[in-house]
Formats: sequence, structure tokens, C-alpha cells
Amino acid sequence: MAFGKHIVPGAIALLVIAALPLLPVPPFWITLANNIGLAALVAIGLVLLTGVGGMTSFGQAAFCGFGAYTSAVLTTAYGFSPWLSLPIALVVGAVVAVPLGLMTVRLSGHYLPLGTIAWGLAINYLFGRIEMLGRYDGISGIPPLSIGGQQLMSSDSIYYVIWGFVIATAIGAQNLLDSRVGRGIRALRGGAQAAEAFGVNIKRAKLIVFVFAAVVAALSGWLFAHMQRAVNPSPFGLDMGITYMLMAVVGGSGHVWGAIFGAGVVLILKEILERTLPHLLDTTANFEMIVFGFLLVAILQVSRDGLWPLLARYLPGRPPRDVSADGAGLERRAMPEPGSTLLKVDRVRKVFGGLVAVNDVSFEVKAGQIVGLIGPNGAGKSTTFNLITGILGLSGGSVTYAGEALTGMNPRLIAQRGIARTFQHAKILPTMSVLENVALGAHLRGDAGVLRSFLRLERKEEAALLAEAAYQLDRVGLGAHKHRPAGDLALGQIRILEIARALCLDPAFLLLDEPAAGLRHGEKQELANLLKKLRSEGVSVLLVEHDMGFIMGLVDHLVVLDFGTLIAEGKPADVRKHPAVIAAYLGSAA
Ligand code: ADP
Ligand code: MG
Repeated sequence: MAFGKHIVPGAIALLVIAALPLLPVPPFWITLANNIGLAALVAIGLVLLTGVGGMTSFGQAAFCGFGAYTSAVLTTAYGFSPWLSLPIALVVGAVVAVPLGLMTVRLSGHYLPLGTIAWGLAINYLFGRIEMLGRYDGISGIPPLSIGGQQLMSSDSIYYVIWGFVIATAIGAQNLLDSRVGRGIRALRGGAQAAEAFGVNIKRAKLIVFVFAAVVAALSGWLFAHMQRAVNPSPFGLDMGITYMLMAVVGGSGHVWGAIFGAGVVLILKEILERTLPHLLDTTANFEMIVFGFLLVAILQVSRDGLWPLLARYLPGRPPRDVSADGAGLERRAMPEPGSTLLKVDRVRKVFGGLVAVNDVSFEVKAGQIVGLIGPNGAGKSTTFNLITGILGLSGGSVTYAGEALTGMNPRLIAQRGIARTFQHAKILPTMSVLENVALGAHLRGDAGVLRSFLRLERKEEAALLAEAAYQLDRVGLGAHKHRPAGDLALGQIRILEIARALCLDPAFLLLDEPAAGLRHGEKQELANLLKKLRSEGVSVLLVEHDMGFIMGLVDHLVVLDFGTLIAEGKPADVRKHPAVIAAYLGSAA
């Protein structure tokens, strides 16, 4: 299976890349291919940062500059060998990226790209002002790369170095996306809240992609410096920053291989236009930039997601990975002592502007109980969930879990304590597979970081995480849908998917916000059986539900809210007879 037919196009592409300098092609083809490779590195970084992470940056050329200037200075003024200056150039890129990233990833909307333009311009200006960097003249006399005593002076010889780095970076980037860390990164766009509720550090994930993009740009700059053997500020300015962004977008900004393709399309198009237009139009004016702009707009009209998806249609898809579903590979949490007080909600309050959504509500959940939280629409049930799980801050009162105050903790820390939830308005990543959506729930049960993921050294852990996801999917009855995009499921199934995701956290306490909405009778029955089984395993559940039939036979204790206020609680059969409940809830439903 390892050499399935999906490998073939990759092998052909690799062969073409390897053979190009050996073929009788005009020398400028190789120069062009080198430039494509250098740009592709930057564009791969942008695929992760922008296409996947959702953060647009026009400032990447500045990071190329850091890579290039670092090596230029070290090799010309301090006698470093280029290979010795490589790790330093990458570290400089990373070290500069951390404060810039911390500043930038906080911005949202238009401010984010504007922010990158601002520092992109400022840094480029700085390059031209610093005496040590040769001001606007830059630095020349940079030594070429050498391998085994051979100096790589020609385009042909550095070609293999450049493309070796491009392919290694693309594979590493692909590995990174296809990992525990990568699931967090892929959740940045549109799934941040759910990811955070399962322990993903969203700020950190943003910073990781920012630094990654900066480091590969610095790598590109380092290669550039030793290819040109001279640097000056102009290739590291805003116009190149915009061009890199274009490459990523034209290629298909969510696809690693699309970045290489996009770099190729943009640079080849530019080359062709620069060669042909002056003859066609019989003028030397720079019309090519205008035509170039229009062509790119036309490409994006044809395919909003860039060109790669158009091409990928003709490539055989990757077969879904085999996953075992034994669910035995990960450690399980010790469950709290049955009957002990697990959750204590004490005079909890939430005010939105003038509206008191949750009004000094107090109740408890004992370990091993299923507690129902009911009340008419707008009663404050979901808000109570958000207060317990740290998505909203309390306006008053306190929440204690297993004797520890949760007040002030973020959703990540709360998840770490074994509290998992589903959302009333399902929060899934529709283009990601069902299996991977569910595996996000197991985030805290692994610890592989960026480097191990990039180098694919975390396969054992990753297999265990996916096996756990597959196991939980089988358990909730969605096992047959593992490899479908989650967005293809029916709404009821998506709710069940969220339960499987929550179970992947190995929770001791589960909060389910209207899990049975949209389910058919038989499916509700299965869900009820699953919840009873979880209870028998020691899991405690807090459940919001409207279907009284479903609730009555299932819960041990019932809490009723109306207009944010607790109006009754107790055994389901008693609460049902409570006059205030009949008036507020059952009355309105009847
Ligand atoms: P339930 O889940 O019981 O139907 P919610 O907890 O969703 O009710 O909402 C309780 C009240 O708080 C409603 O009046 C709702 O409009 C309001 N509310 C909920 N979230 C917000 C918010 N983020 N901002 C302002 N008002 C909110
Ligand atoms: Mg609700």
C-alpha cells in the first residue's frame, strides 16, 4: 500500500524536478526554477499562516531579509561558512518573529494585514539605514554555498540545494498539518472556541504558524543571499511581500503543494509577459504589471480557492489512513469517588448589559449523577454551561469542581481537569474528516510538539489518538462515517460527533447542550443508553434537553431555570409536579 497510486504523480513531479538541469533547456529556465523554489518556500509558510491559520501577512519578505542579511554579515564580516550561518539565520528569523507575532496575532480583521504592512515597511526601511548592512547598497562579496569542497557557483548546482529544501519543507509542513499540533492549527479558522474547550492553546498555535512562516522565509533569504552573493534592501520590500501573498492565493492558499504551484504560475506568467508584451504592444512601458494583475484576478474568478484544487481533481486522492479502533493506547483518568460533590455552582451570575441572563443560580452535581438542566428558551442554560466551562467570565458567584475553584480559569485549564462539553450550536470543522474532528477532543492526551510533528516522529502517539477517536466514533454509532468530511453529516449526527469528541477527552464530567435535538426516536433511545453506560463507568453528566420523555427516564436530579433564575430542583418526578415549573415550562410547552 505504501506505493499506492497516489504516490505516482508525486514521483513524476520529483523526477521532472531532478531531471530539469540535465535536460537541454535554456539556462534561464534553471534561473527561473531557482527563483520559483525560493518563492515557494515563502509561499509554503503563507499557506500555513494565511491559508490554514487565517492570518494574512504582507510582511514575509522582511523575514527573507533577516535570513539573507544575517548570513551576509556573518560570512563577509566574521568569516563564518554559509552552512554555519544557516542555523543562526533561521534562529534570527524566529527570534524576530516572536515579538512581531505576539503583536500581530492579537490583531483581527483589517488590522492584521495592515499591521504586517506596517512592520514589513519599517523593517525594509531599517535594512536601508543600517551602516553595518551597507545601507541601500547592501552587502556584496558573499561566498557561494559549497558542498564537499565544491563551490556551488552556477545556477545548475545551487538548483538542487534550493529544491531539496523546498521539498523537505513541503513534506515537513504537510506532516505538521497532519498531526496533533496541526489539528489545533487547522482549527484556528472557524473552530477556535471548540479547540480551546479541548485544551488547544489558540494563542500559541497562532504563534507557532507565525514563527514557522518566518523561519521558512528566512531560509529562502539565506539561499537567496548565497545564490546572488549580494544583498540589498529592495528584494525584501512590500512589493515582494504582496507577490508572495499572491502566489499563495493563486496556488490555493490552503494547500502546501499549491504554494509551489502558485509560485511557479506567478513567476512564469511574469516572465512570459515581460518577454512578449513589449513586442506585442510595441512599447517598453510597463504594461505587463497591468496585464499580470488582470490575469490573476481572472484566475481567482475561475477558482476562488486557487489553482491547486482544480489540478488536484485530476490527481488520485490519498487513501484514508487505516486506523485501529481499540481505544486502548491511552491512559484513562481516575474517576472521582461516586456520590462526592463534583460540581458546585454557587450563586452564579451573568449580566449582559442590562440583561441578567443567569441570576444567582446555585446547584450541585454529585459524582456519578446525570443532572438535567431545563427551562424555556432564553432561560440561561447555555450561558450557565459557558460559565462553568470558562468560555464566559462570571459576573458573580463561584464554580467549584472536585473541591477546586474554577473561577477565573480559561477553558483550556478547565478542560485539563476532565470537563468536556458539546455546544448547542455545533462547532465543528466542516472540511476536516469526522475522525479528525473527533481526534481534536483527544488533544490533551498527547504531548507531541512542533518539531516531532514536523519530522513525523510522533506516529505512535498520533495512531493512539486516532484510534481513540475511532473507538469513540464506533461507540456513538458513527463509525461508518469516519473518513467523510464532517460537514456532510446531518445535524443530528453532528451533535453525536460532538459527543464522541467530548468523550475523547476522557472526561469525568460531561456537559451536553441539547444533544438529542434533531435525533429520531430510536437515536434518542441509543443516546440515553450511552449516557447510562457512561454513568455506570463513573462519568457525571449535566444535560440540557427539551424532550421531557428523554429527560424523565434518564436523569437523577433536575434543575429548572426560568429567566435566569432557579425556580425548582429535585427528583424529576417531584419537579414535574412543581406548580412554578408547570407554569413556566411545562405549561408553555403544553
Ligand atoms: P438558553 O440556553 O436557556 O436558551 P441562553 O443561556 O442561551 O438561554 O440565553 C439566556 C439569555 O441571555 C437570553 O436572553 C440570550 O439572549 C442572552 N444572551 C446569551 N448570550 C448572550 C451574549 N453573548 N450577549 C448578550 N446576550 C446573551
Ligand atoms: Mg441554549
